[in-house]
Amino acid sequence: MDYLAGLNKEQRAAVEQTEGPVMIIAGAGSGKTRVITFRVAHLIRKGVDSFNILVLTFTNKAAKEMRERINSLVGTEAKNIWMGTFHSVFAKILRVEADKIGYPNNFTIYDTDDSKSVIRAILKEMNLDDKLYNPNFVYNRISAAKNNLIGWQEYQNNPQIQADDFSSGRGHLGKVYETYAARCYRAGAMDFDDLLFKTNELLKLHPDVLNKYQHKFKYLMVDEYQDTNFSQYLIVKKLAAVSENICVVGDDAQSIYAFRGANIQNILNFEKDYPDLKVFKLEQNYRSTQNIVNVANSIIANNKEQLKKNVFSEKETGDKIKVVRAFSDNEEGKIVAEDIMQFRSTKGLKWNDFAILYRTNAQSRSMEEALRKLNIPYKIYGGLSFYQRKEIKDLIAYFRLTFNPNDEEALKRVINYPKRGIGDTTVDRIIVAADKHQLTPFEVILNAGQYVEKAPASLHNFATMIQSFQVITKNLPAYDAALHIAQHSGLLKDLYEDKSVEGLNRYENIQELLNGIKEFSEREDIEEKGLDVFMQDVALLTNDDNDKNKDADTVSLMTIHSSKGLEFPYVYVVGLEENLFPSQMSLNSRSDLEEERRLFYVAVTRAEHKLSISYATSRFKFGTLISCEPSRFLDEIDPKYLELDFTAKPAPSVGSSSYADERTAWSRGNNSGGDSFSKPKPQPVKTTQVLAKAHVPSPDFKPSDTSNLQVGMEVEHERFGFGKVISLEGNKPDIKATIFFKEIGQKQLLLKFAKLHIK
Ligand code: ATP
Ligand code: MG
Repeated sequence: MDYLAGLNKEQRAAVEQTEGPVMIIAGAGSGKTRVITFRVAHLIRKGVDSFNILVLTFTNKAAKEMRERINSLVGTEAKNIWMGTFHSVFAKILRVEADKIGYPNNFTIYDTDDSKSVIRAILKEMNLDDKLYNPNFVYNRISAAKNNLIGWQEYQNNPQIQADDFSSGRGHLGKVYETYAARCYRAGAMDFDDLLFKTNELLKLHPDVLNKYQHKFKYLMVDEYQDTNFSQYLIVKKLAAVSENICVVGDDAQSIYAFRGANIQNILNFEKDYPDLKVFKLEQNYRSTQNIVNVANSIIANNKEQLKKNVFSEKETGDKIKVVRAFSDNEEGKIVAEDIMQFRSTKGLKWNDFAILYRTNAQSRSMEEALRKLNIPYKIYGGLSFYQRKEIKDLIAYFRLTFNPNDEEALKRVINYPKRGIGDTTVDRIIVAADKHQLTPFEVILNAGQYVEKAPASLHNFATMIQSFQVITKNLPAYDAALHIAQHSGLLKDLYEDKSVEGLNRYENIQELLNGIKEFSEREDIEEKGLDVFMQDVALLTNDDNDKNKDADTVSLMTIHSSKGLEFPYVYVVGLEENLFPSQMSLNSRSDLEEERRLFYVAVTRAEHKLSISYATSRFKFGTLISCEPSRFLDEIDPKYLELDFTAKPAPSVGSSSYADERTAWSRGNNSGGDSFSKPKPQPVKTTQVLAKAHVPSPDFKPSDTSNLQVGMEVEHERFGFGKVISLEGNKPDIKATIFFKEIGQKQLLLKFAKLHIK
């Protein structure tokens, strides 16, 4: 069978071992994902019905790519395979089965914002201090409980959990969890974690349902198994219990979601769960040059906890890994952008060949600025999703309400948007009445006169409007129904009347959403094309899924977390600084630090041909310039694989002469004794002080109140000197001002932190 020719012996053996439990734990780039892809194709070629195959991937994007690949191997049968992320696959199953556990089948999926808003409301009602009960903290705590399959009852009865909560002064968490669960239930909503939590409940309480899916999914495969949590582990285990045809692939060295409850134990348990498990080893890396693989090996060797693996590459030795030092985050961006520009033109590459990876989303700013200056097209993956934009969420809230009027978060979002005279007090009264009479808020609104004091007439009109939308969606095709709702809710008009640039953008985004719905309703490969079907799992979509120009030639920017499983010929890993990477939060425990190191390993192993690593010696954080030290991870790499590039000069704008001493210290520190970063440890540039010297504030300098700052105003900055405001963007309290300073050029400052004197 020559379609298996593109596999080595071990890979092929793993593909052909279709029956019984199989585990492949192997290093990055060794073809694990490729094995799954070929395995599915092989199963179909062998005559397995494609409807009986379930493949769980880490991102929707990975599923889509895998499906395309399988399609090229076996044709359109690929369409029938159940393939997607845990969340999307089990949301699909819950859409059919939710009524069995007391939820409507048209349940809403609450996204993180919705969940936090519910939590905030509960904290307020319970009069709990939201510093102690920080909504993010509470959300994470509930999420962790759910991912460990701890419901609120068990949470309240577990002595260990209770002791923890009480000792941290948060004894009411159990009650918050209970109320949160009740609120979601009343709203007919599940949050992200519920999609797995409730699936477990469904499979536990309903043996007939479990049995149905055990027989449906005769072959199961899980990619990136090292990042599954307990809840996911148990679903897989249950579903595979009858056929035992389960194949998991992963790499313990790439486990990077422990902070979200992913558990390496799942790999170790696997051997216990299936005593006749067949384990395959893949050692050859087909992705990267030898230098890149060697660097990756030397990084991960610093971790104590890992399964032993031998990873090698037979590709060319490749260039050494370039380590670049920049004097600021902006300069780091500039160096990376210029490098990309140069490689692309001298080597005849495409923008697609390049990726910039960073530890935190905030780092994208300096990269974006630099790329924009050189007119390099780029795309940020995993950033704010199209579906997270306010105007899109508003319109979708109307859709959500139409299909599930009990959806409380959607209701709160649009009951008074566009404005219709229903104030916060009225909304509070509705919620109180709902609690009191055990009704949903929408049921209260329907009979507002009876339950709500001084109910405005517009309440009744609002309810009637939503009911009319319900009729419309039953009778009109998706696009027409959506357009009707956008128009008759008043939303489109409201956006149309806002003639600012942002307003225009928002209006266009709505058009874009409507276009998306139109395209959806014209698709030929699906039968159900109603707005309800389009809507079903919008909350699960990410930026990448809405990527119309997926083939557009752009440089990719993303966090390392989102780069898992991907590969690019040229990779830039930026921001290798202490307290950034490894992150400050990880410095307290060995296990956290090891997770950061695995993250670095993931970053490095994305590169196929060339890898560059960089750090800046100063960086803007929250509007202040701080000095930074190179990351300890750099010290850990065997220097023989590295080529240091310390040629970058500090930007002249900060007064180059005052850098002389510092620079000598640097070059002594870094270049003597060969390629070491820490022998002797380089002294960080005291950039803050240097900059302070560059400008002496005027005698009358006094930081002013900037709330009325206007474009065109002349200002003085404590350290950057005199300048003029060019533009203002963002909303209070996060307004950013772009200011042109006479001495150092253009800078963007976050006003709430900037020390400015208005002239
Ligand atoms: P990661 O751990 O990063 O997810 P992986 O183990 O899943 O990596 P793949 O993405 O499947 O690795 O493979 C890495 C690259 O090597 C891909 O481009 C793949 O097509 C290629 N590759 C894998 N095996 C072979 C092979 N036998 N012959 C040629 N190319 C291969
Ligand atoms: Mg993979």
